[in-house]
Amino acid sequence: MSTASAFNPPPRILMGPGPSGANPRVIRAMGAPLLGHLDPEFLRIMDQCRDMLRRVMRTSNQVTLATPGTGTSGMEAAVMNLVEPGDNAVIGVCGYFGERVAQMAERAGGTVTRVSAPWGSPVSPGAFAGAVREAGKVKLAGIVHAETSTGVQTPVEPFAAIARDAGALLLVDCVTSLGGVPVEVDRWGADAVYSGTQKCLSAPPGVAPITFSERAWSAVRARETPCNSWYLDMSLLEAYWDERRAYHHTAPISMIYALHEALALVLEEGMEARWARHERNGRALQAGLEAMGLTLHAQEGYRLPVLTTVRIPDGVNDAEVRGALLRRNGIEIGGGLGELKGRVWRVGLMGESSTAGNVLLFLSALGRILREQGFRADVRGAVSAAESRLAGD
Ligand SMILES: *Cc1c(COP(=O)(O)O)cnc(C)c1O
Repeated sequence: MSTASAFNPPPRILMGPGPSGANPRVIRAMGAPLLGHLDPEFLRIMDQCRDMLRRVMRTSNQVTLATPGTGTSGMEAAVMNLVEPGDNAVIGVCGYFGERVAQMAERAGGTVTRVSAPWGSPVSPGAFAGAVREAGKVKLAGIVHAETSTGVQTPVEPFAAIARDAGALLLVDCVTSLGGVPVEVDRWGADAVYSGTQKCLSAPPGVAPITFSERAWSAVRARETPCNSWYLDMSLLEAYWDERRAYHHTAPISMIYALHEALALVLEEGMEARWARHERNGRALQAGLEAMGLTLHAQEGYRLPVLTTVRIPDGVNDAEVRGALLRRNGIEIGGGLGELKGRVWRVGLMGESSTAGNVLLFLSALGRILREQGFRADVRGAVSAAESRLAGD
């Protein structure tokens, strides 16, 4: 066999910022026979996806579907459909992904006000409210629920109240939170919420769940100019996903199978049980890292359980540590992004990857490598702190 045809991806423990490990049932579902994108059996699978998406996103919104493409396609669909040239948008930016939302709103022709916070803290609702007041008539207010670049979780409720009072639509990026921490679209009163398959839903990257409220849908229908993206035009997408079944694109059949199986797994586990599992394992990891002698980066009280940022100690080589974890233990973690590059590691415990075994394996593997690097890591203390968290002490 020539090297060009050799194909042998090694098994990995995916503990980075995504993708997370996929359940074997999801991978098997992707191997099912292809159906045509208008086959009645495939349409039934799409309808079931819609129904399960509404349950997982906790919404009764009619317009709930999956855009073709990774999480970013959901972000682009939300922003491009809701921002028209000249519209005011106020975007909370406390990390890399908030900035991406702001840039998209500018590309849509919007006038964008950024409300920034240090990378490691959430956006201040007070500062956000002030910016909304100053901006005049605001069309879209946007925040990132789980900022994967910093490990910060932003409580949505205060921002929902600000948007409601200002008559603005609220966009919430839930790419990293959906399936791992509570996402309550209707209870929040959020208008445009999107996610991805490759974080806490634990399917391969490929489609993006998205939902629009009645208010957001009215705004789409009231547009004076057509959406700047043809591929991600929600009116065209909805015409394929609802009973009109109008051809728009060829659905990524195998990815829809994967989404279907991943959502079924979430509902079988139960939302509350799944949130509790992510919470328990995330807090155990964080307790272990602190007991090891390391410093967590995200502000206390706002730390995500599904993505932990930990500071790289002085004198320790970032790339060598991550390389050794991958080579020796098959563990992938993430480096820092943007202004945190070289300053933190990002450790994900998302979906299938969120297990007690992974927490303990990672702590002992990291501790050993850090000691080789000259950092006096308390490995036993770390494992024992994590174990007592896992036992619920
Ligand atoms: C991963 C991520 C995205 C982008 O998703 P892709 O699947 O990489 O396109 C957007 N927002 C947040 C918060 C993310 O973590």
